[in-house]
Amino acid sequence: MRKKIVVVGTGFSGTVIAREIAMQLDRKVEIVEKRNHIAGNMYDYYNEHGILVQKYGPHFLGGNKWSLIEYVAQFAELFEHVFSAKGFIDDNYITLPFNFDTIKELVGPAKAEILYDKIRGRFSGRRVSVLDLKNCGDPDIDEFGDILFEKAFRTYIPKMWGIQPEEIDRSVVDRALINIGYEARYGFADYYYMPVNGFTPIFEKMLSHKNIEVAMNTDALKHITFDESAKIALYDGEAVDALVFTGPIDELFSVCYGALPYRTLDIRFEHFEEESVLPADNVYYQQASGYTRKTEFRKFMFNTSGCKGSTISTEYPLQYDRNAEAGLDPYYPIQTEENRVNYAKYRERADSYKNLFVLGRLGDFKYYGMCDCIERALSYFEDVKSHLLRNE
Ligand SMILES: Cc1cc2nc3c(=O)[nH]c(=O)nc-3n(C[C@H](O)[C@H](O)[C@H](O)COP(=O)(O)OP(=O)(O)OC[C@H]3O[C@@H](n4cnc5c(N)ncnc54)[C@H](O)[C@@H]3O)c2cc1C
Repeated sequence: MRKKIVVVGTGFSGTVIAREIAMQLDRKVEIVEKRNHIAGNMYDYYNEHGILVQKYGPHFLGGNKWSLIEYVAQFAELFEHVFSAKGFIDDNYITLPFNFDTIKELVGPAKAEILYDKIRGRFSGRRVSVLDLKNCGDPDIDEFGDILFEKAFRTYIPKMWGIQPEEIDRSVVDRALINIGYEARYGFADYYYMPVNGFTPIFEKMLSHKNIEVAMNTDALKHITFDESAKIALYDGEAVDALVFTGPIDELFSVCYGALPYRTLDIRFEHFEEESVLPADNVYYQQASGYTRKTEFRKFMFNTSGCKGSTISTEYPLQYDRNAEAGLDPYYPIQTEENRVNYAKYRERADSYKNLFVLGRLGDFKYYGMCDCIERALSYFEDVKSHLLRNE
């Protein structure tokens, strides 16, 4: 006889899998969410001023695979929007992404002229890392690399990641490369879109299917146990045909190999009478104490006719602590060798249960953009499907 299928988490990872099971396999799915709303970290809503705000920080649908954008477009009307960004250094707004305009803004036009020629002559690619500028052996370029590093990375990295720039993986520093020339597009993906009516309706539409039942305000961890001899996951003490889990993998196993660390954000909202407050969608505060980024939501709304004033969010990064009042949501997995080793132990344990499928930003302990999550969920669904068909 068929048993239940339970999916934990209503972010993109859980919602995509639940939808595919319901549609492609015509099976009943119970999707369980511990928060009081669906949509995971993509959750957005209209505030009392008519502004569409994103509770868990600004999200732009960006990716290089058109098929994934099309997947989302089945559930929402999208409009093209490449997000804009500025930095704020020495009390001035500066150009982001770092490019030749930023060099002029930081060192003045006369010094910039020398740097332009030298950088063009020295580096053949389109972009260069500040770490390569700092250490290239040319005294003028090295000096500029040091200036940029001290102004833009020295305070920002410990504030964002809780570790000193010298300790952090180079890939994190290299997320902010310097464009050789004047290319001014901030995002590196080929496609950028936003949903006309926000992200939450996408999830409402995906989850409104005759085979899907949503249980809100339910912490699945209180319901999940394991039968170690049969190597199966149980929900409410009963064997299930499949348990798909998109929450934190370490919490699923009572943190038995140690906590996997995350950075999180304390996001504070302020409202202003003016219609425009910031010079871009996002402003990064490289030198400010405590906060890293401000976002002006009105700037990327499709229809602003119902808006009064403008709402800004400010992000204060902190260490994720599941017992603290602020910072309750794990956001950015901190990738170190030790954490990767611990994660591998959790993954091995998860894979040892016949009916358990763990994925998503928290399940895979990996920074994913939305399109990565959708792609991973669609491909992992094939494993869930084979398992379910095998056990029919
Ligand atoms: C500040 C910020 C900005 C970002 N900006 C972008 C962007 O611009 N573009 C982009 O593509 N991506 C962006 N991302 C990444 C994006 O948020 C993720 O790719 C996506 O939200 C991950 O989806 P998910 O379903 O894996 O996880 P989540 O969205 O976190 O969903 C997991 C769900 O599981 C629920 N859950 C967890 N544990 C339990 C439990 N025990 N019981 C029941 N429910 C549980 C959670 O409440 C949550 O709803 C950003 C991320 C952050 C933090």
